[in-house]
Amino acid sequence: MPLTVLQHALAAQILTRLRDKTTAPEQFRPLTHALSQILLVEATRDLPTTSTTVTTPLEETEGSALTEGIVAVPILRAGLGMLDAVLELLPAANVGYLGMQRDEVTAIATSYYAKLPPLKGRTALLLDPMLATGGSASWAANELYKAGASRVILLCVVAAPEGVARLQTDFPALHIVTASLDRELNARRYICPGLGDFGDRLFGTF
Ligand code: URA
Repeated sequence: MPLTVLQHALAAQILTRLRDKTTAPEQFRPLTHALSQILLVEATRDLPTTSTTVTTPLEETEGSALTEGIVAVPILRAGLGMLDAVLELLPAANVGYLGMQRDEVTAIATSYYAKLPPLKGRTALLLDPMLATGGSASWAANELYKAGASRVILLCVVAAPEGVARLQTDFPALHIVTASLDRELNARRYICPGLGDFGDRLFGTF
């Protein structure tokens, strides 16, 4: 399965500020926005395109357009922090929502909400900032493939080796794009070194 880890000086600086425990939600949100746009640019690098023509003020020339429709699917709630960044660059994208809740003790994720637009023949961009055990992402990817998505690309800020391995097993074709492949999960299934609970840091619920 393709795994892309950003190699980019600006992305690394933004990630460092996200990791910093003193970064407050009002800084955390725009940093998430900026990093999500870099992740999106990388995630869409090789999407299929169709040749077009365009007329500049001077002459006609060759152009290009994405062939498939795009559906952005944040996993609630932390994925919401990445959505605006995606819609800014892809304003015509449709949006689906998947709600997953992680049990604080067992770390097992259960779903409580799903609302998806048509996905048949479309590219799904799954937005989930922390790929930890891979339980939520695997469930979500299954929903997207079941609904007919032609490809699924997971955009995450930080990934753990355990989550990557889980997705590799479950969905060999799924592409993961992350800003960092971190060391491991701890006993409470938090990513280390990680950045803590992404949703809490984004929304100030600590
Ligand atoms: N979810 C988070 O927000 N942080 C982690 O470290 C793992 C899962």
